[in-house]
Amino acid sequence: MTEAAIQATIGAMKAAAQAEGTNAGAAAGGAPIPGAHAAVFLDIDGTLIHFADRPDAVHIDAALCELLERIRESTGGALALISGRSIDDIDALFSPARFAAAGQHGSERRSADGTMHFHAPLAPRLAAHASTLRRLAQAHEGLLLEEKGTSLALHYRNAPHAAQLAEREVRRVVELLGDDFELQAGKFVLEVKPSGKDKGTAIAEFMAEPPFAGRSPVFVGDDLTDELGFDLVNRIGGETVKVGTGPTRARWRLGNADDVRRWLADFAARAPAPDARRQST
Ligand SMILES: [Mg+2]
Repeated sequence: MTEAAIQATIGAMKAAAQAEGTNAGAAAGGAPIPGAHAAVFLDIDGTLIHFADRPDAVHIDAALCELLERIRESTGGALALISGRSIDDIDALFSPARFAAAGQHGSERRSADGTMHFHAPLAPRLAAHASTLRRLAQAHEGLLLEEKGTSLALHYRNAPHAAQLAEREVRRVVELLGDDFELQAGKFVLEVKPSGKDKGTAIAEFMAEPPFAGRSPVFVGDDLTDELGFDLVNRIGGETVKVGTGPTRARWRLGNADDVRRWLADFAARAPAPDARRQST
């Protein structure tokens, strides 16, 4: 699919999803276990792992990596991580495993075959404005600025008193940057990211290429930013799973990262063990 065709598809899907409106009542208490025909898209923070005080304070254990690798194998490679983190950061977290991934809310993407895709080279323009937010973070204890390349994230989880000030300053930076950038609000975080790319566009781009194309997508996420992914996956007939409480357009709901872990374990348990499969072929 050409870039223009992908964009046209995404535009139509988003318009249809907006017309459909919000479903605040996702089914509680579980989500269906996908089959081997699934294409699996997973958010990381708040979904695969619990939030930590700082984004660099989280840890991915080997058992989780093994589960993901087993599911990836059982779905013909159709598993991708969809995150606000940079892909470099994702790789460091999951090392030595490397997964197909969309980083910085779709601003960068690595296909299943390893090909990298980058959004327009906007990093230098963003860097020129980073100093404003860096000074703000230095002046208020608990504020944390993450400089990810083509996006910036100002975390206020540990500085709730500075939330309003942080939002005002981030909005000002986004205005100064113009139409190429937009504000993306998440849980205790305000991000400045390139316009036109989000978790929905990232999933659509994966679904247009092997080994995802033709499969039935399932997307699991916990945050506002994941709603764009839910919209897209709902429109193309897949399954959407919200982690935690709050209104959502997802169809299903799991309580927290521990429930997601059990759900992944059930998924992996239904898949044939890699050794058994190799012996049978
Ligand atoms: Mg998340």
